[in-house]
Amino acid sequence: MGSKMSDIAAPTPALPEGAPKLRKPSWIRVKAPTSKEFQNTTEMMRSKKLHTVCEEAACPNIGECWSKKHATVMILGDTCTRACAFCNIKTGVPNTVNPHEPHNVAEAVVQMGLNHVVITSVDRDDLEDGGAQHFAETIAKVRALNPNTTVEILTPDFLRKDEKITIDVIANARPDVFNHNIETVPRLYKTIRPGARYFNSLHLLKSIKERNPSIFTKSGLMVGLGEMKEEVLQVMDDLRAADVDFITIGQYLQPTPKHAQIQRYVEPEEFEYYKRMAKVKGFLMVASSPLTRSSYHADRDFAEMRTAREKQLAEKI
Ligand code: SF4
Repeated sequence: MGSKMSDIAAPTPALPEGAPKLRKPSWIRVKAPTSKEFQNTTEMMRSKKLHTVCEEAACPNIGECWSKKHATVMILGDTCTRACAFCNIKTGVPNTVNPHEPHNVAEAVVQMGLNHVVITSVDRDDLEDGGAQHFAETIAKVRALNPNTTVEILTPDFLRKDEKITIDVIANARPDVFNHNIETVPRLYKTIRPGARYFNSLHLLKSIKERNPSIFTKSGLMVGLGEMKEEVLQVMDDLRAADVDFITIGQYLQPTPKHAQIQRYVEPEEFEYYKRMAKVKGFLMVASSPLTRSSYHADRDFAEMRTAREKQLAEKI
C-alpha cells in the first residue's frame, strides 16, 4: 500500500449486510492490562467516583495508558443524549450534574501527578449550555490545584446552543488544547453520527481559534468505516481551513455487534500515507496509526506541538 494516485482514487468497498466479521490483524492486537499502576489508576478513579472514556469506550490502549498513569476523565456523567453508531457510551436521560466533579477531577490530577490532563464529556443536549460552564469550572479547579499542569479538553459539538454561553465560555476558560473530533467524513454522518452536523463541528473548531489564537486546536477521525481516501484528504483540507493545528487518525473498532460494522482494517502503510499528506497540508502535529485515539500520548504530543509552534514563530521573525 502506498501513495500512488490509483490508490488515492480507489473507493473502499462496503461490506454487504450480514457479511462475516473481519479478522483482527496483528497490528491491532493489544495485551490485557495487568500492571500494578493499572490497578492503582482503577482504584483511584473508583474512589473519586470519576468516569473515564478509556473504560466507557472500551479503548484498546487502556493497558498502556493506565500503566503510565494517563487517563481521559469523562465529566458530566456517564449517560449521553446522543446515540452515535460508533460509540459505546450509554445513551439515555442523564443524571443531574455533580457540582463537586470539578474539584474531584482536580484532586485526581494531583494524586496522579499529571503534567497534562485530558478531560472529555458525554453530550448534554439537555443542558442549556451543553455543559460548557462545567468544563470551564473544571479547567479552573484543575489549574488552581495544579498550576503546572496543561489542560486539554475534548468537547461535544454544542449544536444549536447559544455561542455566548458555549463557545465564548470555553474560549475564555483558555484550555491549552481544545479538541473536538470530526469523527468521520461528511458522507457518513447520516449513519455514523446522525445527531451531529459536519459543518457545525468545523465552525466550532474555527470559532475557538478565532476567539483565542493561542489555544491549540485538535480534531480526529476514525478510518475503516467505509470512507474513501480522497474524502479523508478533503476532511484534512476542511480542518486546515478551520485553522486546526493537530489531526489524529486511527482505526475504527466496533465496540459491540450492535455498533457500526468495520468496513476494513486500514493497513499501517496507509496511516503513514495520511501522516505525510497531513504534514504537507500544514498541520503542526499529526498522529496517524491504527491505535491512535484522540487522547493517546496526548501529553507527549502536546509538548511536541508546543515546540513546533515555537519553531514556526521563530522562523517568522
Ligand atoms: S487512548 Fe485515550 S481513551 Fe484510550 S486508554 Fe489512552 S487515554 Fe484512555
